[in-house]
Amino acid sequence: MSDKNEIPYKIYLSENEMPKAWYNVRADMKKKPAPLLNPATHQPCTAEELEHVFCKDLVAQELNDKDAYIEIPEEIRNFYKMYRPSPLVRAYCLEEKLGTPAHIYYKFEGNNTSGSHKLNSAIAQAYYAKKQGLKGVTTETGAGQWGTALSMASSYFGLDCIVYMVKCSYEQKPFRREVIRTYGAKAIPSPSMDTEIGRKINAEFPGTTGSLGCAISEAVEHALKNEGYRYVLGSVLNQVLLHQSVIGLETKAALDKYGIKADVIIGCAGGGSNLGGLISPFAGEMLRGESKYQIIAVEPASCPSLTRGVYAYDFCDTGKVCPLQKMYTLGSSFMPSANHAGGLRYHGMSSIVSELYDQKLIEARSVEQTEVFKAAEMFARIEGILPAPESSHAIKVAIDEALKCKESGEAKNIVFGLTGTGYFDMKAYEAYNDGKMADYIPTDEDIKKATDMIPRFPGNEF
Ligand SMILES: *Cc1c(COP(=O)(O)O)cnc(C)c1O
Repeated sequence: MSDKNEIPYKIYLSENEMPKAWYNVRADMKKKPAPLLNPATHQPCTAEELEHVFCKDLVAQELNDKDAYIEIPEEIRNFYKMYRPSPLVRAYCLEEKLGTPAHIYYKFEGNNTSGSHKLNSAIAQAYYAKKQGLKGVTTETGAGQWGTALSMASSYFGLDCIVYMVKCSYEQKPFRREVIRTYGAKAIPSPSMDTEIGRKINAEFPGTTGSLGCAISEAVEHALKNEGYRYVLGSVLNQVLLHQSVIGLETKAALDKYGIKADVIIGCAGGGSNLGGLISPFAGEMLRGESKYQIIAVEPASCPSLTRGVYAYDFCDTGKVCPLQKMYTLGSSFMPSANHAGGLRYHGMSSIVSELYDQKLIEARSVEQTEVFKAAEMFARIEGILPAPESSHAIKVAIDEALKCKESGEAKNIVFGLTGTGYFDMKAYEAYNDGKMADYIPTDEDIKKATDMIPRFPGNEF
């Protein structure tokens, strides 16, 4: 089934149909993602150790690989209702333009002021910090979406919010910085001179425009040195994927409403949270042997953790203060080029996504940024939404897959995550429009240099 009369351009769920619990895909994984390790002892981190850095309830979620469903507290559901459920859009216009028999759907997460899916986890993390009676939270932000989301969430619950913002974004994206400040948070360019690790990195790499890994180290240091503060992270961690499962649950519910079975599911992958959240319920069905999907993670060719990294325990941050996580990684010392998809410039990957990739439940592709912007431009002109550069990685591969269907004549259902809008990324669009965008791809040597620095210890062979 599926002609225009039956499937609307936008499939909305009602408030009552919104998920009341997050789905924890780890519960259905026979081989679980490896535990976080204490970098000094190489033993699994205990809850107590993690609670110095993270909020208590979030640590429990981080370590929980047993419960398939975790209730979404009512306060969070009420906040979700301000901008959720997000629509699942049938891209009729794009299909027509491509002349493909494929049916293309995208789940649009850009309908909130922060402009991306990140608010789904920000509000949850702020809620648990407030519940614990904390004064405030510290974090890093790359392109600025996470900082924006967290500043909104913190202001809602009356928490202080300190955001270390990767320097190139701080300078390139004054508008996001100002949204952060408007919501009452403090934005600090990273590497800064405010922390020990920031001063060290500035001395070692003079003129560096920063990286997510480095900003993370600064934010963690700030939380550890200030009473009543905890560090929160916008991606990579299990808890973040858990919160983002709201995307996948809604997508599944919307598809089910019209009897649509997805064939291909595509998401861009920076730290893996939107992808992990989108695919969780579908991956769960695969893990339980109920169904089969083709799942594709899309990453930038300039920062190809899944497609060219190694699967090993590594530091989550440049400063090596966070626990070790087993993941596909380019090495925490890998400094990606100044790619315009700032939200995808991370050396590692969620351990859940990494493990699913290692088990070959999902596949990965890397794409170059000029092609990505070509796809973004096409999408903006045809579907009317100006997409974020990060999201456009998924658009690019969705278009590729739809064109394959054109050749084969298959009417596959292609679903992709449109994680956000690109209104604050006009510098990137400017470079593209001026023909000044370059494709930087690291050499094998660049990658080897960084992966050679990944710690080696018994049990960490790669
Ligand atoms: C942060 C961000 C991403 C990438 O982060 P993940 O954790 O991999 O989801 C993708 N799209 C947008 C719009 C973002 O803000």
